Parts: sequence; C-alpha cells; structure tokens
Amino acid sequence: MTRSHDLFAAAQRHIPGGVNSPVRAFRGVGGDPLFVERAAGPFIFDPDGRRYVDYVGSWGPMILGHAHPEVIAAVAECIQRGLSFGAPTELETAMADKVCELVPSMELVRMVSSGTEATMSALRLARGFTGRDKVIKFEGCYHGHVDALLVKAGSGALTLGEPSSPGVPAALAELTLTLPYNDLDAVRDTFAQSGDEIAAIIVEPVAGNMNCIPPVPGFLEGLREVCDRHGTLLIFDEVMTGFRVARGGAQAHYGVKPDLSTLGKVIGGGMPVGAFGGRRDIMERIAPLGPVYQAGTLSGNPVAMTAGLKTLELVSAPGFYEALAGKAERLVDGLRERAHAAGVAFSTNQVGGMFGLFFTGEQVSGYAQATRCDQERFKAFFHGMLERGVYLAPSAFEAGFVSAAHGDAEIQATLDAAAATFAEIAG
Ligand code: PMP
Repeated sequence: MTRSHDLFAAAQRHIPGGVNSPVRAFRGVGGDPLFVERAAGPFIFDPDGRRYVDYVGSWGPMILGHAHPEVIAAVAECIQRGLSFGAPTELETAMADKVCELVPSMELVRMVSSGTEATMSALRLARGFTGRDKVIKFEGCYHGHVDALLVKAGSGALTLGEPSSPGVPAALAELTLTLPYNDLDAVRDTFAQSGDEIAAIIVEPVAGNMNCIPPVPGFLEGLREVCDRHGTLLIFDEVMTGFRVARGGAQAHYGVKPDLSTLGKVIGGGMPVGAFGGRRDIMERIAPLGPVYQAGTLSGNPVAMTAGLKTLELVSAPGFYEALAGKAERLVDGLRERAHAAGVAFSTNQVGGMFGLFFTGEQVSGYAQATRCDQERFKAFFHGMLERGVYLAPSAFEAGFVSAAHGDAEIQATLDAAAATFAEIAG
C-alpha cells in the first residue's frame, strides 16, 4: 500500500470525499488520488518519495514550474511585512498596471480571490450594467461553481436552462441559456428570438474544461458581432487561458476584444487569486464608483499580489510564450506519433501552453464529440502513465499544461512512457 492510500483514508474522516475540490478524488479514472508532498520545477513528489513529471500544474497556475526560486524568494520577503491588511497597498496598483498593460481590453481591473468569484462578479456587473437578466453560456464550458453558471441545456433547442446541481434554484437557471460550443448558428437563432433580453455571453475563448477545444475560425468573431448588434456584453473567461495561451491571453491570440474578462490561475502564481475587468465605462459601475456591489476581505492580498506580480514579470521575458508553445507542440506531436505507431486512435489539440488528448480518430471541436471519446482507454492511459512517472489530469475532460520548467529530458521521458503505455493499451 502507498502512503497516498493511507493519507486518503485519513482524509475521508473529516473531508467530504477526502478532497477539497472534487476532480482531485480520481473519480474519473478510479484508484486513490496521489497525495503531493512537495513539488519543484516540472516535478511533483508523492509521500513515498516517487517523482512524477507534472502536466496538471495545479490546474494551470504553475506556468513557471513549481516552487520557482524567484517567486518563492519574493513571497518569503513579502511575508515578513505582514500577511493581510485590508487596506490599499502599492502592490495592488502594480498588479493592476501590469494586467492592463498585458491585456489592453482591461482598462480597470478588480482583484478577487478565485476564478469563481471573478466570473460571479463579472456576471453581476454585466446584469447591472445592461439592466438585463439572461446570460448565454456554452455546453462543456466551466466558469466556476457560480449558481447562475452551474446550468445545463434544457431538453430542446432554445429551451430554458436547467440546474446542473441540486441547490441551484430552477428560477435562476432559467435565466441561463446553454448553447453548443463553436455553434454560431445556435447563437444567432437565440439572439433572433430574445437578443434584447441577454445581458452577456460568457465563453472560455479556448475551452479547457471539456478537455482542450479551441474556437473554430470565426466563432469568437461572430460572438463579438452578435453582441455588438444587441447591446450584449461579451465576457471572455480567461481564468485558464489568461497568460497561458499567449501573454495577452486568448484575446491576443485570436485578436478578438471582449467587453469584460475574468482571470485566475497564472495571475496568482499559485496563490488564491482571481480578477475581473474590462471597459472603463462598465467597470465604473462597480462599488465604490457605482452601484453594483462587490467586495472581498482578502482581495488584493499582498502575498498573493507578490507571487502573481513576480510570475507576470517572468512570463513577460521575450520569447517566453514561443518557447512554451514549442514544448507543448513537441509533446502533442510526439504523443500522436507514438499512438499511431501503436495503432491507437488518438488526436490532440494544443494552443500555446495548453493541450488536450483524445482517444478518437477525429479532430475534436465540440462537447458531444469529446464525450464520445474512448473513456476506458483514457483511464488505462492515465494509469499507465502514472505508473511510469507521468502525472496527467485525472479526468478526460480537463486540459493539460506544460510549464517553462519542462525541459527536453522531461518531454522525452513522457514520450517514452507514452510509447510503452500506448503499446500496452493497444494489445
Ligand atoms: N473559469 C474557468 C475557465 C476555469 O477553468 C475555472 C477553474 N478551473 C474557473 C473559472 C473557476 O476558478 P476557481 O477554481 O479558481 O474558482
């Protein structure tokens, strides 16, 4: 038995399911979750001292690799001055200036403590600004566990949304319309029917919560156009893609400008941070400037700002994103080659430092297609890789991430492990 097994048993005594966030529990792949004792660079280490090449990166934040010495040093220095003040600090101004410099559609930005808080606040602001209640989201996109966004499509096209979790009031879910990702016609049809009631479209500009699914050409541009025509706000949820697919996020990568953006993960460098921001005239409606209420005891926390600022400084180095994308490309190209050599139907998606792996022969561009991939093969692949020292996301519906710390040796080791694992699951 592993130490992880014992620790998981102990965790379940007083933590629901033994975890503080459900996907960590390995329900999607079976077996005991790996407990992590420490991490460094591209590696995580379990309590038995086993080392794994990590492609989860704490679900996205660790773009520099784990425990980056400069981030750790900055945080260590910062904490000497206190952990939280609940009063303004210079660090918050530096963070706001940096974010608005890197993401020019953001003219004003408010810091929060998680991605969920960011999307919840952006939605309230969009509703407050437009005076409309309905919002559109897309099937397979995840925007945190905000009530209004834990909603799935109703039974027919253009029907009202239904709660996707008990506890979300049906009356609230009805205000959220859920449409198929990458389906502009469905968006246009919905707007033709009730466009003037829709406050906002919220979208992951590269979907990372149904594996990794990039927007088809014209999708984001089409959303922009429809929103402009109907006075609806376009919200890019860049919690995952921000500072990940490009320095300026997916909006820079695809050249489409949203009205509001949400950020998380990388912006905190591993500390609990989120942010939302955008057009000045919209953001001026937030308290204390305007009537839309939003607040946070720990918002703009100095330790979190320090970790985030140092991270943003380091990702701003020339060539950072080209190198990051090169690593991810090398990884997915190598995985495809090895799968094909073993005769395993397999495809990949990749945008900048994020990637998706699919056990299917086709290129995946939508949620329905993602759900049709071979789940059993994914599970076998996941466990085969874990046994060989590679830690992938324990779910077929999550994107993977490379970090700047993933070197040629780690990628080669991953490809060697994959060759053996593909051969095993093909047999
Ligand atoms: N939006 C997106 C696109 C996300 O990927 C996530 C988290 N995976 C969230 C929002 C929610 O962020 P958090 O878990 O920090 O609340």
